[in-house]
Amino acid sequence: QVEVRQSVSSTNDLAKERARRGAPEGLVVVAEEQTAGRGRLGRAWASPPGVGLWMSVLLRPPLPAPEVARLTLAAAVAVAEAVRAVSDVPCGIKWPNDVVAGGRKLCGILTEIEADWERVHFVVVGIGVNVNTPAAAFPPEIRESATSIRIEQGRPAPRAALARAILAGLEHAYRETLAGRFDGVLARWRALSVTLGRPVRILPVAEGQPALAGVAEDVDGDGALLLRLPDGRLHRVLAGEVSLRPA
Ligand code: ATP
Repeated sequence: QVEVRQSVSSTNDLAKERARRGAPEGLVVVAEEQTAGRGRLGRAWASPPGVGLWMSVLLRPPLPAPEVARLTLAAAVAVAEAVRAVSDVPCGIKWPNDVVAGGRKLCGILTEIEADWERVHFVVVGIGVNVNTPAAAFPPEIRESATSIRIEQGRPAPRAALARAILAGLEHAYRETLAGRFDGVLARWRALSVTLGRPVRILPVAEGQPALAGVAEDVDGDGALLLRLPDGRLHRVLAGEVSLRPA
């Protein structure tokens, strides 16, 4: 079931509303424009009309809540592989939730979960790809840090073909994850990662937490980053709490 809209506040919000009213797994909401697109922690996601792919997918995974983070990694793999399939852009994955090209953000992924102590009710995976955005359409404050497929390859890319490729890849990775074969998804994530093996700084989101520096050694089965600290210890970093920067 695919719901196509001209303009919405946020495709994630609309998908969540549909989910609460019993919409089936697999519902896709896609919009030409988001007027209040969001990133993590309520940050704004610029979603100008006609140039991006602003899309949310409703899932009802029979997974325990901590394993839902796997779906963010699965979505990042699906997006990076789809961008490579429909364009010439050699993009990679920046832990935890961005697809980047030349160090700049091409796509953001926002996974939202509704759960109680007993079970996960639903998950909405929001995917925002800057497909044909010209540099001038980005707000000034992100012009240095954001990019689009069109900027990177010098010509536009077909949004519908990209959407189809992402959905096919996500469905495949989702089925693999539910079938107990997340290892294969993780192997592809590692192969596409631009974070692993690099020195990075971890900036806490909460006030009063110390920043950390180290080498990004691996991710584990819950999507946490394993950071090798200068004193040799391995520190496990959960995605919700931090921002990652090159050291
Ligand atoms: P950080 O880069 O600090 O770790 P993040 O990767 O988690 O954050 P998100 O919260 O997923 O980022 O996305 C929100 C941020 O992305 C905004 O604060 C802004 O800097 C940037 N941004 C907003 N809109 C776009 C866009 N269309 N393309 C690229 N970057 C964007």
